[in-house]
Amino acid sequence: MSQERPAILRVAVAAPLPRLFDYLRPADCDPARLCPGLRVRVPFGGRCRVGMIVALAAHSDQPPERLKPIAAVLDPQPLLGPSDLELILWTAAYYQYPPGDALFTALPARLRRPEALPEPGEPGWRLTAAGRVADPSGLARAPRQAQVAALLADQREGRSAAEIRRRAGDCAHALSALERRGWIERCRAPASPSLPAIQAASGPTLNADQTQAVAEVRAALGGFRTFLLEGVTGSGKTEVYLHLIQAAIESGRQTLMLVPEIGLTPQLARRLVERIPGPMVTLHSGLAAGERERAWRQAADGGAVLVLGTRSAVFVPLPRLGLILVDEEHDASFKQQDGLRYSARDLAVRRAQQAGCPVVLGSATPSLETLYNTRAGRYARLALPERAGGARPPEIALLDVRAQPLRAGLSPVLVRLTEEQLAAGNQVLLFLNRRGFAPVLTCHACGWVGDCPKCDARLTLHLAERRLWCHHCGLTRPLPAVCPDCGDGDLRTLGLGTERLETELQGLFPGTPLARVDRDSTRRKGSLERILAAARRGEVPLLVGTQMLAKGHHFPGVTLVGLLDVDQGLYGADFRSAERMAQLVVQVAGRAGRAERPGRVILQTRHPDHPLLHTLRRSGYRAFAEAALAEREAAGLPPFAYQALMRAEARDPETATGFLRSALDLAGALLATEVQLFGPVPAPMERRAGRYRAQLLVQASHRPMLQRFLGVWLEAVRGLRPAPGVRWSLDVDPLDLM
Ligand code: ADP
Ligand code: ZN
Ligand code: ZN
Repeated sequence: MSQERPAILRVAVAAPLPRLFDYLRPADCDPARLCPGLRVRVPFGGRCRVGMIVALAAHSDQPPERLKPIAAVLDPQPLLGPSDLELILWTAAYYQYPPGDALFTALPARLRRPEALPEPGEPGWRLTAAGRVADPSGLARAPRQAQVAALLADQREGRSAAEIRRRAGDCAHALSALERRGWIERCRAPASPSLPAIQAASGPTLNADQTQAVAEVRAALGGFRTFLLEGVTGSGKTEVYLHLIQAAIESGRQTLMLVPEIGLTPQLARRLVERIPGPMVTLHSGLAAGERERAWRQAADGGAVLVLGTRSAVFVPLPRLGLILVDEEHDASFKQQDGLRYSARDLAVRRAQQAGCPVVLGSATPSLETLYNTRAGRYARLALPERAGGARPPEIALLDVRAQPLRAGLSPVLVRLTEEQLAAGNQVLLFLNRRGFAPVLTCHACGWVGDCPKCDARLTLHLAERRLWCHHCGLTRPLPAVCPDCGDGDLRTLGLGTERLETELQGLFPGTPLARVDRDSTRRKGSLERILAAARRGEVPLLVGTQMLAKGHHFPGVTLVGLLDVDQGLYGADFRSAERMAQLVVQVAGRAGRAERPGRVILQTRHPDHPLLHTLRRSGYRAFAEAALAEREAAGLPPFAYQALMRAEARDPETATGFLRSALDLAGALLATEVQLFGPVPAPMERRAGRYRAQLLVQASHRPMLQRFLGVWLEAVRGLRPAPGVRWSLDVDPLDLM
């Protein structure tokens, strides 16, 4: 029998090499135990490494004498199922990334080492055999011990230490006394469910549009289909998700819900917990390794009915996956910007296809890629055109600030409107996408400017910390008292950041409580939640913030939203600037008038005649998107073309460009007419953290063509011997061309 089992194990080794490696089945290993998804230890380049079996094969392309047996099998059970493996290997191939590295990037970090995950459960206590038959009346004079023993008596598998503490208070003495008696022992106790399954609360009755959206996706459960849920801010998308998750649970399936950043929307997690009748786990980068492993395991063993996570959760094994939701699908944070540069949104669609389940991409401002797919009929569109619960959409006005005296970046009109709303007891949100006090510090005497010595960028002044800060490489310097060049004391700031806006607003509206929301003000754990909760309750009339304030929050008392400077996005270097700008405007505007009070949105601009602003204001995001798509089509840009960006960086500019030029030479021979290369050119910000960056853009009119080209080309590029210090990478479907 064993002769017929394939003797070759194809292994993804945790190493930066773009292929799989073949090994032999060890003689002393029961062949029936070997299957894909098991981690193994393998001899590799003179030492041992961890890998995972991804396939069994009868034959190898390698000559038999070069094949070595694996050293050990590390797991009793496969960690990944066939479809989980397939997704990751597909990802590696699509993004031109080493399969072993991709695989181990997708697993909890501990599994990269030849260790098993800790036993499921948590450290805890249980009764010993002696404890179970002991006479509890013997504890009559030790009431704490009696209490703990009673607590353990009705739970054979034991209780976690955390749970014992929660129920019985601090009882360390009682526990050690019972242990000395031999009545209890340490064990791995079942993890107290990370989120207790409580009686699920019920929500509002769905309106007609929501009902139809739910019905359409519901009808598609059990098969692959991609939906765009296009719902204006406050239209009740989250209610639709809740009903769909419920439907998936009823059909015995797990739901994967991807969100841009869990930390930014603490209400969402809470709302889900209150409404979902079953265990839910969250997965994001803020978790400690142990919490992450526990959540991963609860997802992988099918215990969690809902996994709420950020982009990396797209790889979590889900044996009963039945539905995928991607909220705010347009958000750039779904794209990983280093290492394995995947788009979790795109992979979600791929994963749904593989799993044969529906995927819903939700947004008030869908990406042009998704709108294009919808227009082409690949995605089905579900629309929620109106705000739920009767709230009216905000009115958007353009405010020409040319030749206007600005105070704290606010025009007189915006100051007056703010005053009016504050006087009426309403809230005002002022948006400025630049943190710090001022983006430039300069000497009035000699013209010195505070530049970052390592980047092509200015140092931002942070007044509270009295420091200059580079927002690109993190370099920081104490604020100089005098000009470093000429010694003059007249140092002045140019421009406006949120910190300065806050200070100046306090002067304009003395005594009015104000909250600032940006990376600096929310660095401490829990501070963002506190600020948002206070804002939601209407306790802070003035809200100031960066795009952190734009995402998903619901501030019922906000009646006026002011965007202080929308011009940056109008003439950005990247062809996606306009799209991002429009999304931001609509998202920020969406914070206004979400409840019974109507809202107003003011965009301050020096380009009041800009066609994009007009289309957006008069006809809304959808009309803007159609216009932007037409422009992209005319220019042959994504989504009408497919791109990959090769980046290189080195200590000097010539070396970086030189490497890309050699890569370009290699492409020459392979080039199909439909694939074009542009460059190499210096990156828009050429110097960053002391290194010079250059890039080479590859573009094709069809995805398969691009994929074929990249496969062959990269094989050749990997054979190049780059000059010392050159680092290079490839970004397939890049979002950011900086
Ligand atoms: P979105 O996710 O589209 O921004 P939400 O689902 O958060 O919208 O809904 C916005 C607000 O409207 C929430 O306070 C929600 O409770 C409420 N809401 C949603 N659907 C309804 C409905 N059918 N009837 C009344 N209120 C609703
Ligand atoms: Zn000077
Ligand atoms: Zn810098």
